Amino acid sequence: YPPERIRNFSIIAHIDHGKSTLADRLLELTGVISKTGKNKQVLDKLKVERERGITVKAQSASMFYEHNGQKYLINLIDTPGHVDFSYEVSRSLAACQGTILLVDAAQGIQAQTVANFYLAFGEGLEVIPILNKVDLPTAEPERTAKQIESAFEIEANTVLHVSAKSGLGIDHVLPSVIEKIPPPNGSIDKPFKALLFDTWYDKYVGVISLMAIKDGSVKKGDRIVSMYSNTKYEVAEVGIMHPEPMATTSLQVGQVGYITCNMRSVSEAHVGDTFYKEKEPVEALPGFVPAKSMVFSGVFPIDADEFDRLDESIQKLTLNDSSVSVHKETSAALGQGWRLGFLGTLHMDVFRQRLEEEYNANVLITAPTVPYQVKYRDGSTTFIRTPADFPGAGTMQDFVECTMEPYVSATLIFPEQYLGPMLDLCTTHRGEIQNHTFIDESRVMVKCRLPMADIVTDFFDKLKSRSQGFGSFDYEEGGYDTSDLVKMEVLLNGEPVDALAAVMHRSNVVNTGREMARRLKEVIRRQLFDINIQTAANGKVVARETVKQLRKNVTARCYGGDVTRKMKLLNKQKEGKKRMKKFGKVELPQEAFLTIMAKS
Ligand code: GDP
Ligand code: MG
Repeated sequence: YPPERIRNFSIIAHIDHGKSTLADRLLELTGVISKTGKNKQVLDKLKVERERGITVKAQSASMFYEHNGQKYLINLIDTPGHVDFSYEVSRSLAACQGTILLVDAAQGIQAQTVANFYLAFGEGLEVIPILNKVDLPTAEPERTAKQIESAFEIEANTVLHVSAKSGLGIDHVLPSVIEKIPPPNGSIDKPFKALLFDTWYDKYVGVISLMAIKDGSVKKGDRIVSMYSNTKYEVAEVGIMHPEPMATTSLQVGQVGYITCNMRSVSEAHVGDTFYKEKEPVEALPGFVPAKSMVFSGVFPIDADEFDRLDESIQKLTLNDSSVSVHKETSAALGQGWRLGFLGTLHMDVFRQRLEEEYNANVLITAPTVPYQVKYRDGSTTFIRTPADFPGAGTMQDFVECTMEPYVSATLIFPEQYLGPMLDLCTTHRGEIQNHTFIDESRVMVKCRLPMADIVTDFFDKLKSRSQGFGSFDYEEGGYDTSDLVKMEVLLNGEPVDALAAVMHRSNVVNTGREMARRLKEVIRRQLFDINIQTAANGKVVARETVKQLRKNVTARCYGGDVTRKMKLLNKQKEGKKRMKKFGKVELPQEAFLTIMAKS
């Protein structure tokens, strides 16, 4: 296939607008998968993706399609829609020349539709808008097309109408891709040059790299070089995703396909790296800005003996997800563990679920925190990723010049009647409203600057509940600002527990301090002695609570009674222990570490 008969495109959309379903229909249409009706989101291969119905990792598939008597090779790169994974979105865009912007005709334009459009537009890609779910009785295709016109300056009457579910209008999609999206440019006669844009680990074949071939060609046995590390590799296999890996004799200019070579670990495969052939040097491709961790959390084995096994599991899992950062951490309360950095809380949640399901790990996770900065009077600056490391009152007074926290630029879209509650939500989360505009007669778009820390906790849930599910939200990094930050400590029977410490704005100290103590009291079980809970900031106690001692043995009332009931109770207690860590004599359940995420 010469480049003029290749098209590389992706589908971008707000979450749940139907990207994966549309991908299924296109794969069926081109015979890549059979039309049994059993294929559901075939590109969502991870168990978490199937369960949650969201796409986490971008996947690709190649299709063959005939249009006007010509055969085309079409490469589809599915992308995740969630804001936490926008890094995955931008890297899949770099491998494409165009993209389908899919919009749910019943829901209309949402915050991620806007964010994804600008990502693609910024990359200079051709954008094909398509309205999906026109089969729904609640669909308003005309209105949604008008929104597209006013938000993106794309003529409403050029927008395709489809139902990815019923298949209606699907046969117009690929012709439109072929006609509107330009073929990849590049030349078969130039030296081989490829962009590595995704990589994962397969236990049988090792590291698999997805590459977009920008010039020349590559085949088995070729010796290729990584521009990033200057390491040489021998190509073991090349092929296309169909949607499973399918070996081919070569990969040529314009194609998107996989390469396996003698790479030992995915840490050698740098997303955004340029590859070329030995002795045929080329100029580097632009590459990517590395993913920045914005949410950090401590992960500790429940059973210290599991440390080594867990270490191996975390390494394997991060091989598949290079956007997770990993550092060893030791906590006085929880022992040895790791501090992991994620792109957002959903990313963190998905990682935890994969660790537990795919690697059978039993872990305790501390509350998520954003990276704070502390500027000292001597001119030095440190990043604080673990709240326990945040300076206490004494150090603050003697050495600290100022403290800073990360902000985001947020976009909110919602029906007009929620304007009051939405503006209120932003202000109560220390947000600064920048502007609000109407994207049609009754939909409002608000731009607002918010502290990242407030988004990590409960902002999104509140946005959903206060807009009855109609509000949507997306954000991008907005740099650091000075902020009056304070460390909140938690003491159990007078002893500070480092893993429960939190950093917060001074204005939240009283409320959050009380809330944390109250919630800890709820989740810490009674034991054979009283447990005193205190929260303290700046050396001053903010709140106190007591968990009264337990008087009776759990099994006491079963003496002489029903043995199965007794076994059941004991087993129940054992179950409950699974996610406990002993601190001194006090047992702390997993929930205790998340009390900072209070939803009030
Ligand atoms: P993604 O998050 O964008 O990948 O969305 P999915 O493809 O996972 O679809 C989200 C939900 O919308 C699923 O329950 C689909 O079955 C449903 N869906 C997708 N396309 C259509 C459509 O054209 N009509 C209707 N009624 N439902 C659809
Ligand atoms: Mg999906």
